Amino acid sequence: MQVRGVVHCHSDLSFDCESTLRGIRDALLAKRFHFVALTEHTKDVSASAYHEYVLTCDAMSDESFVMLPGLEIRCTDSRHELLAIGLRQYLKDDDSMGLIKSIKQHGAFCVLPHPWKHGQSKFIEGVDGIELLNGKVDGLRAPNFALTRFFYRESNVKLRPCAIFGADAHSLDSIGAVFVECELKSLSPGNILESLKCGDFLNSTVFVSVPATGRMTLIQQCRCCLWRSAYIGWNWFLRLASHLGLMGIVQSIRKRDAPVNNSRSARSNA
Ligand SMILES: [Zn+2]
Repeated sequence: MQVRGVVHCHSDLSFDCESTLRGIRDALLAKRFHFVALTEHTKDVSASAYHEYVLTCDAMSDESFVMLPGLEIRCTDSRHELLAIGLRQYLKDDDSMGLIKSIKQHGAFCVLPHPWKHGQSKFIEGVDGIELLNGKVDGLRAPNFALTRFFYRESNVKLRPCAIFGADAHSLDSIGAVFVECELKSLSPGNILESLKCGDFLNSTVFVSVPATGRMTLIQQCRCCLWRSAYIGWNWFLRLASHLGLMGIVQSIRKRDAPVNNSRSARSNA
C-alpha cells in the first residue's frame, strides 16, 4: 500500500506549539495522510511526561493512522539539533556523537534538521538523514539550490544519508504541505521506520518531488528551479512592499491564499 506522512511535526508537548495530538491526527486524516513523525522539543519535558506521551501516541494509532513519537534534541557541542523519530525513551541533550549513538541504539531514525539554519556549515556525520527542505526555514515549495548542491558534494558515498523533507510544523494551518510517500506491506510503526531508515521513500511538497537519494531527474530539477525561484521572488517582493509601506495589500493577498491547496495529492488519492 502507498502511504503518505508528515515528518518533523510538533504538538503541545513542545513549548512553542499549541496543536494537540488529537488535532494533528484529525487534520491529517482529513487530508488523507497515514502517519505523522512527531519531533518534540526537549525543553521543559521530563522523562515521565515523555513516557505518557509515547503511550498516548500508541493509543491513538490504529490501522488507519500511525503517530510515531519522537524528539528534537539539542546538541551540546554545536547549535544543531537532532531528530529522533520513533524514539520510545526520553533522551537528554548531549554532544552530537553521543546523541547519534543513543538515538540509533534505541532504534530510532536520526535526522539532522535544518542544517543551515545558523549559517552554512558541514553536515554532522553519522546521521541517517538530512533535511534537504525544512518547512519553516525553506518555505513550503522547493528546496534551497545551494543546500541541494552541497548535499550532492558532501554526502559520503558509502554512508550516504538520505535526503528528507521535514515540515517543522508548529500549527495546523499548513500541515500536509510538506510530506513523504512510501510503499508499505501494511501500515505499522515498524514498517514506516524501516522504510525511512532504508531511504525507501519520496519527498514531496504540493509543487515538487525529490527522491530520498537527493538525485533528481531533469524534470524534477526544472520544477524545483521554477518553484524555488517563485519563493525567492515572492520574498523579495515582500521585502520591497514592506520597505514601501504596502504591507496592507500583501496581507490581503495572503488572506486570500491562506488555505494550503493540496489538490495534487487529493487528485492522486481520488
Ligand atoms: Zn522542529
